[in-house]
Amino acid sequence: MRNMSSDYYAVLGVEQDASPDDIKRAFRQLAREHHPDATGGDPESEQRYKEISEAYAVLSDPRKRQEYDAVRMGGGVWNSPWGSPFASTIEDIFDSFFGGGSTRTRQQTRARQGESIEVHLEVTLEDVVFGAERTLNFERYEGCERCSGEGTEPGTHPERCPACNGTGQVQQTRRTILGSLVTAFPCRECSGQGWVVPDPCKDCRGTGRLARDVEVPVQVPGGIDEGDRLRLDGEGEAGAAGGGRGDLYVRFTVAPDERFERMGDDLYTWVEVPMTLAALGGDVDVQTFDGDETVEVKAGTQSNTVLRLKGKGVPRRAGRGRGDLIIRTHVTTPTDPSKKEKELLRELAKLRGEEIKGKTKGVFRRVLGRAER
Ligand SMILES: [Zn+2]
Ligand SMILES: [Zn+2]
Repeated sequence: MRNMSSDYYAVLGVEQDASPDDIKRAFRQLAREHHPDATGGDPESEQRYKEISEAYAVLSDPRKRQEYDAVRMGGGVWNSPWGSPFASTIEDIFDSFFGGGSTRTRQQTRARQGESIEVHLEVTLEDVVFGAERTLNFERYEGCERCSGEGTEPGTHPERCPACNGTGQVQQTRRTILGSLVTAFPCRECSGQGWVVPDPCKDCRGTGRLARDVEVPVQVPGGIDEGDRLRLDGEGEAGAAGGGRGDLYVRFTVAPDERFERMGDDLYTWVEVPMTLAALGGDVDVQTFDGDETVEVKAGTQSNTVLRLKGKGVPRRAGRGRGDLIIRTHVTTPTDPSKKEKELLRELAKLRGEEIKGKTKGVFRRVLGRAER
């Protein structure tokens, strides 16, 4: 199955921006040509039919198509869904197109692959920087213990449906002037399953599985971003009647952080620098996720000056190491200078030849009062 052509658009012979209708039309045309019933079981056609079906299963589902497009554009490896939960829907797709009841007989198995589940996990920005271990709590189907997933009462077994001899189909032959015409219908006795359970398990009512609250540990990878999905193979729902598990998808959101903002692999923050320090130069303490760091501020620093701490950002999504922490200065002015401080500030202004207009107390108060209102 691995050597199947993985370009679904090429398989169906459509453009990447093909509409759902175009895709449907292309599939319908190709599936008619290559369906095993039409080709008499020619192996090349059968392989082609599988490719067409797989391509259609993905491209006809908006969500799967989006996922596939993303992987394709990113040059990544697409995990063929063949053999995964929706592989079993291929025949259903065909049936939905051509009215069901393909005349090919196929042996039915009772086991059904479990569905995949998506759960949501909110992490902090610190989790993003260092990675983290979290526990997911959610409900999923687990194999029934009473019947070991078989769906039958202990000591009993499913039996091959006597009405259809296990094929899931009944055939009716009609004689016409053109010869015998064989039509197949899904078997009513077993709903097309090919099996009947004479004595269903009392715990799971014959399904072989039960919903349970579970805890699943998950390793949050460093550098994960909002909307990323992580797949945990075989952690989805247990299948019916002992079928394999589906997969678990963990979708991440990142809680906003008061202090840091992320852009790509870099983190952004700010640091308050008192007016005097900004003028004279010196060291300031900066918070980082790795602890406080001392950063030098040059004499004459203005607000919005960019300082950079290399390697204190988020783990790089491509390549090794971490991005940077980018710090903007916010030069602060005294808001409540004392009488002595005001005297010094006036003296400083005088020395620098900076005229302070409207400095008399009364006027200052009134202007300030108005601005505050
Ligand atoms: Zn059971
Ligand atoms: Zn039957």
